[in-house]
Amino acid sequence: MNDLGLPALDTHAHIAPDVTPGQIAALGNAVVFAMTRSLHEANQVKNRPDSSLVWGLGVHPGVAKAREMWDSTQFKDLLHSFALVGEIGLDRRGGAMAEQRSIFKEILTIVRSEPVLVSVHSTGASTEVVRILHETGVQGAILHWFNGDRTDVQGAIEAGAYFSVNAAMSREQIQQFPRERVLCETDFPARKVRSRKPADLDAVEQLLGQTWDVGPQEVRAATWWNLRTLSEQSGAIERLPESVVDTLLFL
Ligand SMILES: [Zn+2]
Repeated sequence: MNDLGLPALDTHAHIAPDVTPGQIAALGNAVVFAMTRSLHEANQVKNRPDSSLVWGLGVHPGVAKAREMWDSTQFKDLLHSFALVGEIGLDRRGGAMAEQRSIFKEILTIVRSEPVLVSVHSTGASTEVVRILHETGVQGAILHWFNGDRTDVQGAIEAGAYFSVNAAMSREQIQQFPRERVLCETDFPARKVRSRKPADLDAVEQLLGQTWDVGPQEVRAATWWNLRTLSEQSGAIERLPESVVDTLLFL
């Protein structure tokens, strides 16, 4: 906990759908965006009343089984129960690119007019993901662990995208992102990031502090402000858990 008392804000992590209240309490003063990988998983969490987790409605592009179970009608039914869609996107290592593309585009077309946040995966497919954001007119997506080159970053900024960054990313990459578009993530349990648990943001907040030449409290405050802007712009503030909205409104 820092001087401002703002919770750690982890905007991309993976948490088991059957996580217990005790396990959530062990995360400490934190808000975690908890991705699901399939409609099946999303269905398991849709009625959970967790106040410090923002559950995502996801179809992970790299998971063949999740793609197999893709069903736009079921997705639309579930969508009303979520303030966040994720994770979705493209994954060059995942195979079946045509299928991935078609699901990703269909999801973005459904969600572009909905009051939700969207967490997007783009491994090996940065250029194409940015192009699809432009094509589908989706504003304010959160590009997670985005390793696109300068041109891709520029295109993403023009698409209104935000960037959730982690401690495994290079300072050179992070420097390319405008400070008012940056959020923090662990992508827990990603081994490269080395977070001990979701919301363990020490390393990434330090990295951002060095990059911006500010203290960790300022980093945390900045990311909360960025989430507030994005939540207001997207309308997701209507659907976020009450405790998260309280934090956003009392900044
Ligand atoms: Zn992820």
